[in-house]
Amino acid sequence: MPDIIQPIKSDPIAMPAKKPEGKPNLIGMNRVDMNAALEVILPDAKLRKMRVSQLWQWIYAKGVSDFAKMSNLSKDFREAMVENFVIERPEISLKQLSSDGTRKYLLRVTGGHEVEMVYIPGADRGTLCISSQIGCTLTCSFCHTGTQKLVRNLSVAEIVGQVMLARDDLDDWPTSAGDQNRQRKITNIVLMGMGEPLYNFDHVRDAMLIAMDDAGIAMSRRKITLSTSGVVPAIAKVGLEIGCLLAISFHATTDDVRNMLVPINKKWNIEALLQACRDYPTLSNSERITFEYVMIQDVNDSDEDARRLVKLISGIPAKINLIPFNSWPGSNYIRSTPEQIERFASIVMRAGYASPVRTPRGEDILAACGQLKSASERGKKSKAELESEL
Ligand code: SAH
Ligand code: SF4
Repeated sequence: MPDIIQPIKSDPIAMPAKKPEGKPNLIGMNRVDMNAALEVILPDAKLRKMRVSQLWQWIYAKGVSDFAKMSNLSKDFREAMVENFVIERPEISLKQLSSDGTRKYLLRVTGGHEVEMVYIPGADRGTLCISSQIGCTLTCSFCHTGTQKLVRNLSVAEIVGQVMLARDDLDDWPTSAGDQNRQRKITNIVLMGMGEPLYNFDHVRDAMLIAMDDAGIAMSRRKITLSTSGVVPAIAKVGLEIGCLLAISFHATTDDVRNMLVPINKKWNIEALLQACRDYPTLSNSERITFEYVMIQDVNDSDEDARRLVKLISGIPAKINLIPFNSWPGSNYIRSTPEQIERFASIVMRAGYASPVRTPRGEDILAACGQLKSASERGKKSKAELESEL
């Protein structure tokens, strides 16, 4: 969109009787919320609707967070906005660049807690891995985040704010109408950071709906993948209410082993999980489910496991993603050998499934899958101490 500077007229501003305590953050609001929030300063409904769509463009399409730069808004209105609202992303408290180009961010959110976000550049894509919770209620035995207690769910602003912050840091906002079509640095979003997204479903959904809005961040629903450990009753809602792709942290082919690796399996076992997959509303050959499978030596990596895996998922349009186990300080498992991962992959491939082995990225900065863990758990350490740990 070219920046057409419109003649600045005054808006009929009504100042609210009482100034709000903590000013509400416009990030995280959808159009309806924003419209309702503005009512108190802009009673004229028609004008308000126009201002909401202008604000939407500035905030979500251009990434602007300074009201003063919103040149097509009247001065009075901008002043009223400064008085009453903020546009706030999480803050970067630490940023690390891996030798393979992976960027890991430690983000500080309200309350001083920290979550992690990772950007993984690839040849034809750039994937942003975002968090949905501070910590996790679940305790998957191979996962570093699982050793951290849940602090709280992230808000809508904190979830969509991660995407916006990453666009800031990567200089990835479109700068003109033509620039809209340029390949973005962030082409894909995966909800595979800290937390179980389906235990924070409403916030994740609302954040992704904002990220998918055509007049804003404009991510395609097919470029967003939500990964769940298997919260069966919420799986259909992902397809119905977000419409994004689904990944399942499968990791085992018998209930005994899965109970140990992914304890939520005691609540919803393999059979219940696979039924939810078969019933996934948007499931088709072009929108397959990804089955993530962490390769752990002598636990789940036998040839028999590979054969059982393809049998279990037969009939489901699927991709299998083999993830070599990433160890972390204190973990009790060992990564499968490259030879065994190859054998496993070829059995899966012979059965007709694409099964890319996920190359561990950013290992030198503990940013690989399952290694995300916030500094809050490790106590309040200085940046220097944290850096020296990694
Ligand atoms: N809670 C969600 C999403 C976050 S975990 C879920 O469990 O799906 C993202 C992915 O990383 C999951 O597939 C998870 O099983 C995997 N993972 C966790 N710890 C890992 C580790 N140490 N090595 C490799 N993958 C791991
Ligand atoms: Fe939580 Fe996912 Fe880690 Fe399990 S694998 S503990 S669900 S973040």
